[in-house]
Parts: sequence; structure tokens; C-alpha cells
Amino acid sequence: MPDPSSTPSPAHGAAFASVAVADLPIDRTYSYAIPGAMRETVTVGRRVEVPFGKAARAGYVVALTETPDCPPEKCRSIVRALDREPIVDLRMLEFTRWIADYYCCGWGQALDAVLPTGVRRQTKEKTLRWVILTEAGRARAAELGRIAAAGGGRVPTSSPLKELPPDRITIPVSEQGMTEDGPVPAPADSSETPPATLLGALAAADGPLPAEDLARRAGTSSAPLLTLAKQGLVRIEKRRVTDPLLEMPLDLDAAVPPALTAAQAAALRPIAEAVEARTFRTFLLHGVTGSGKTEVYLQALARVLAQDRQAIVLVPEIALTPQTVGRFRARFPNVAVLHSHLAEGARAAQWSRIRSGEAQIVIGARSAVFAPTRSLGLIVVDEEHEPTFKQESTPRYHARDVAVKRAQMEGAVVILGSATPALESYRNALQGRYTLLRMPERVESRPLPPVEICDLGAEFRAQKRYPLLSRQLVLRIRAALANKEQVLLFLNRRGFVTLLICSECKMVFRCRRCEVALTVHKSRDAAICHHCNERQPVPRGCPACGAGRIRQLGVGTERIEEEVRREFPGIAAGRMDSDAMKSGRDYTHMLGGLRIGEVDLLVGTQMIAKGLDYPNVTVVGVITADTALHLKDFRSAERTFQLLTQVAGRAGRGPRGGVVCVQTFHPTHYAIAAAQTHDYEGFAARELEFRKLVGYPPFTRMVRFVVEGESSGDVEGRARMIAETAAEHLPAEGGDILGPLACPFPRIRDRWRWHVCLRAVSRATLDAVLRPLRAGTLFAPRHGITVTVDVDPQSML
Ligand code: ADP
Ligand code: ZN
Repeated sequence: MPDPSSTPSPAHGAAFASVAVADLPIDRTYSYAIPGAMRETVTVGRRVEVPFGKAARAGYVVALTETPDCPPEKCRSIVRALDREPIVDLRMLEFTRWIADYYCCGWGQALDAVLPTGVRRQTKEKTLRWVILTEAGRARAAELGRIAAAGGGRVPTSSPLKELPPDRITIPVSEQGMTEDGPVPAPADSSETPPATLLGALAAADGPLPAEDLARRAGTSSAPLLTLAKQGLVRIEKRRVTDPLLEMPLDLDAAVPPALTAAQAAALRPIAEAVEARTFRTFLLHGVTGSGKTEVYLQALARVLAQDRQAIVLVPEIALTPQTVGRFRARFPNVAVLHSHLAEGARAAQWSRIRSGEAQIVIGARSAVFAPTRSLGLIVVDEEHEPTFKQESTPRYHARDVAVKRAQMEGAVVILGSATPALESYRNALQGRYTLLRMPERVESRPLPPVEICDLGAEFRAQKRYPLLSRQLVLRIRAALANKEQVLLFLNRRGFVTLLICSECKMVFRCRRCEVALTVHKSRDAAICHHCNERQPVPRGCPACGAGRIRQLGVGTERIEEEVRREFPGIAAGRMDSDAMKSGRDYTHMLGGLRIGEVDLLVGTQMIAKGLDYPNVTVVGVITADTALHLKDFRSAERTFQLLTQVAGRAGRGPRGGVVCVQTFHPTHYAIAAAQTHDYEGFAARELEFRKLVGYPPFTRMVRFVVEGESSGDVEGRARMIAETAAEHLPAEGGDILGPLACPFPRIRDRWRWHVCLRAVSRATLDAVLRPLRAGTLFAPRHGITVTVDVDPQSML
């Protein structure tokens, strides 16, 4: 067995390569002949171009062999080697092989997933030319300044720079018109003033500036900078375009580690021991909101760095956690950040920093679990219960589960942190597969906020109408505003009105292409489908019966914002949802407003439910707790409990305390009652009992097959064939098949959707069914029908 961390050795003349073809959903490799001239370069882990069918495709060399899987004379040849070196090592090959097996995708697809697009395309990172004033430049600028002052405040045309005749200014060819941000405009005129103006503008700035910014300030072109550089008055340096997240100010309060609380110290101890021992172990850190989990991560990371190893920190959506990133960067110098808004080139550059070992800590969303670390010591999965860790396209991996697998293969420690662990993780802890660590109290013994339940049914009976804001919530908000405290209002639905229904014929106004109700967006004056984004004009009368009025039911965040402005005139209200937030910058800007007290009240979707730590927020209102409760998904109670607990956790984080007000039509539902008493254990016990009774995860493993296509008959037919074939291979005991059934969203973008679920107590039972199905043709795209295989599905919709 070769050392798995080493770079694979050269081919030494093997005649054939087994290639996993990129982007191919088929579970097999293909043999290709290695032309003699390539025998030294085509090695295991190398990307190559191969002929496939009539096209050329990329593929990964996963093995070298003397015995191809086809007659040698029929074997086609590798066209060329891609990249400068092998880009996957043996460990990654083994890891992706496991992913392909577990999640039922092609090996090539799994390999594609671990390599960012920018790495595969070899996208160059964008750079900017920065201009730095040298000592000589500073002296010259001062001198010019004196002359200018003597000459009446203008830069004289007879500047000392005039000494240099224009014909001696040669711009190196490689620099001409360069910068990847566009060509450098030619000098507007040939007078000698621009260099002096540029120098003056640079001296007047606080420090180095990008060439284009400097030129703009000086009101000239940037071309004369090369003259200045030649004279040694400035230096020009290419620097990477930085990421807005990295420009965020560091959280300097977080730079010095605080003394740990007793609970934090007790949690850190076994983690630190496992890190010291360099063994694989998974911890489930169950700490209430505000218990200081992040500090435990930070101190565990410090131990790993002291061993000269690297670590990965996974967070649900990095663009939404600038506060967290700031805390990590304040503590550690070499942090690489990977997130969805990064340009391809920037991502590729972060990837090389990690691969070279320069970056010690990687923070990122789910795909960061594939970061090419050299020596991995720790993976932290923060908010491990979040559904966003599941990728909803092939390969449909769950970053938390993949993290545990990777750590096992590399002898690393895993910390799964959450205030509301997923029941899968919790059961693993109860069964001893993970080590459970608990932090049941907030730091500095701050109480968890009291949660008031407001019964909307009772409110209706008292007021004879459905209020958007109950009397109780209005009182709470008014009191907070009077005290100059802040308020968060949570509603997990964007838009103005979420249901249009005819008063006479009861027709629901739906998308033409999707089987879902349209949402009215007042700001865009349209009814919009949240699945396919199709817009329609807001109907005035009923298009079906022509008689009825259109009633507007169901509220979204836009409507609540309007209601808040009406009820509390003059307050500074903001809204945070994906309509209002177009970029990461909008988000940091709004959060900045909240931090400095410019925003009194913020209405938002789940964007405001996570991670926010603002001590002056004393009231959190939940407009309705019921949105997830009625979804036809066995996790709906769990999701409701998680979301309520997370939202409630935003309140009362400072010395003034706080209160949460939850509006619901189901005040006695166990998910809501448990959230009221902050009772995770109670909720989990009850929910586990229910799951066991009905045979759902975590008591069974599940695979969901989703069949989609334009003809509903064909879709249903294929779903039936899958269910029947699965039934033929299912062992007599230990598993069953649900469906075929139309999906809860039966049509999206004109495609009908049916699903079949396979459940079993063990993976072996699942495999007994999956293997023959994958080998057959039922999963192949045919006649416009596609089949998705989703292992451990997170959504049943
Ligand atoms: P969690 O991630 O569990 O919700 P945080 O890590 O955000 O909790 O911690 C909550 C607050 O307590 C933060 O403002 C953090 O700076 C502070 N904090 C954490 N640990 C300590 C400590 N040992 N001493 C003092 N303050 C702490
Ligand atoms: Zn639609």
C-alpha cells in the first residue's frame, strides 16, 4: 500500500489507463491506451482528454493497467494530458470512490464535485495593479507640492518630470494595454503633467491605490504610471482582487481568547485529547444558542494549528455569516474563505493556497468539505442540522456525513455543533457512535428568553378578524421601541400576498407551468411563481368564473413591513429577504445598520434566523410558526422546532434580556410547545418515538427516486416500473417501498413529478435493490424523462 498522501508516482510505462469520465452518470471506468510519448506524464490522479462516443471529454486517470477492459486493438487512445500536474491524490481518489458508491453517481461526477470549476478550467485569478509611493516618490511629491504652492496652487507644467523626453518612455510589450480588468486607455494627451498629477494624488492618499482608482482621482489616464515606476518614484504591484468578506473589519474583540466557562472547558477537554492523539473521533456539541460554541471551535482549532495541521470549518451559508468569519480571522492569520459569491479565479486561488499549506484554516459552505488540505486535523460543522448542507444536485451529498467519512479516512477529529441537532446526529450520539458534549446554559448565565405563545385562533374570536400583528406582539414592539431597543420579526415567506383565491368559484390563482400558487410582489406589481419565476399581472377579477372578486390571503414579508410602517409611523424599519438583498454587500450593510442602531426593526425570512448576535435586540416576533408544519414531509415538526429555536436564540443576547412572541394557530403542537420551554431533549424523545413507530429516519435509511417529464402518463409509468423492479429485488424483511405517488409539488416548470421511496434498516438491504437498478436502464434519461436518485433525502417535496 503506497503512502496515500504522496503524489502518485510516474507511469513507468504502463500501456493502459482506467479513466473515470467527467460528468458521466454511469458507474464504470473505461480503458484507454496511453501513447508511448505520454507514458511519463499520464499518471494516476491526472486529468486527461479522451475520445468518448463522438465527442472529446475530460476524464480522470484512476488506475494504470496492462490489461484493458476491451480487446487491446479496439482500445482508443488518450488524446492529451490536462493540467500541469496530477490534481487529485490517492486519498481524494479513494474518497470520491466512496462518494460515488454511497450517493449512487458516476466516479467522474464525484471527482468533478471536489474540484472547483475554476481549477478545472484553470481560470486565472483577477488581479489589480496597485501603486505604491516610494521614498524617492514621496520626496519628489513634497518638492512638487512646494513648487505648486509657490506657483499659485497648480501643478506647474515645467515639472521636474519634464526632464524625461517622451521618446524614452517605453512601455514593455507585456504591460501594454494589459490588466485583466480591461485595456489601459492610451494617454489622453502627451503633455507632461499627468505623471506629476498622479504623483500628487498618490501622495495625498493614505496609502497604496489601485492604478485605475488613482487615475480617476488624478483625472488622467493611468499609462504615465510606468514612467513614474521607471524613475523609481512609485512601485507597481499586482495584487489579487480581494473578496468583500475579507475586507470586512476584523472583530478585534475576538482576537484575544477569553477565559473559558466551566462548560466550555469541559467540552474542549475531550476534543483536545482526541486532537493530541491524532485519531478519528466525532463529537456532537449540543449547546444552546449563545452558549459559546464558537469559542470551543476556536480553541480546538488553535490546538490543531499548533500541530502544524490544517482544519476545515463548514457553515451553512458563508455570505450570511460575516460576523463569524470576522471572529475567525481576528484569531488566526491564514484563513481561506470559500463561498458561493467567489469568482471562479478567486476560488481557484484559494484552492492553491490550501493545497500548498499556506492557508491553515478553510471556512466555507458545503463544498469546502473537499478542500485539498495536506494534513487535516479537524473538521467543524457549525449548525450541523441545517438542510443547506445537503447538495440538491448530483452528487447529492450531505456535507456533514461526508465530513465524518473524510475525517475517518484521514484520522481527523470532527465537531458537529448545534443548538438543535438533527435527529440522525442525536441518535448517533445516543448510540455512542458520536461523543455527546452538552452546554445547556448561555455564557455568563444569561437566561434563555421567555417564549410567549400567541394563539391566533383566540385572537380571531376576540377581534373577528385575523390580525397580522397580535395585540400582544404590538405591545411588546411598542415597549422595545420606547426603550430604544431593537426588534426582529420573522416570517419564512417572501412577497406581499401568498395566495389569490376567487370569492365565488374558489379558484386558486396558479402558475401556468407549476402546480403552485402565485405570490403577489407589490414592489414589482406582479404575481410571481417562486419555483420558475414566471410573472403574471395581478388579476382584478376571476378569469375562471368571471363573477368573483379575488381575495388576497396569506402574508409575506413585504406585507408585514408595510403593516409595521403603518402601525409604528416614523420608525426605521428594514427588510431582509432574497428580494431586498441582492448581494453580500446589501446584507453586510443592513447588518451594519442594525449594529450601530440605525435600524429599529427588521423583518426577514430565515436570513435573520441564524447566527446574528446583537445585544440590543430584545424582542423577536414570529409572525407565524405554522409555515413548515403542514408540509408533507416527515421532518416538518423537526424543521419547525429548529427554526423557532434558532429565531428565539436571537433575542436577549445582551444584558437587557429579551422576549420572543410566537403567533400560531396550533399553540399546543408539540414542536411549538417544546420550543416554548427550550426543551430539545423532550422534543427529540417524542419525535424519535414517532419516527420509530412509522419507520422513518433515523430508524431507517432512505433513498428517494424522483421521476420527472412532460408527459404525466410516461412519468407515472416509469415510476411504477421502478417501484416494481425495486420490489422484485427487495429482501423479504428489513425494507419496504413507498409509492409510486405524485410528489407534493406535482408539476414544476411544465414537468410532472412522481416519486418512489425505498426504506431499509441497513445499507446492505438498500444496496441489494440499488445495485440491479443502477445496472439496468430504468434510471437512464429516455423519452424526455429523467430520474434522480437521492440518498438520505432531506426534502420529500
Ligand atoms: P453560540 O455559537 O453557541 O450561539 P457564541 O459563540 O456566539 O455562542 O457566544 C455567544 C456570546 O458569548 C458571544 O458574544 C461570545 O463572544 C461570548 N462568549 C463566548 N465565550 C465566552 C467566554 N468564555 N467568556 C465571555 N464571553 C464569551
Ligand atoms: Zn412556475
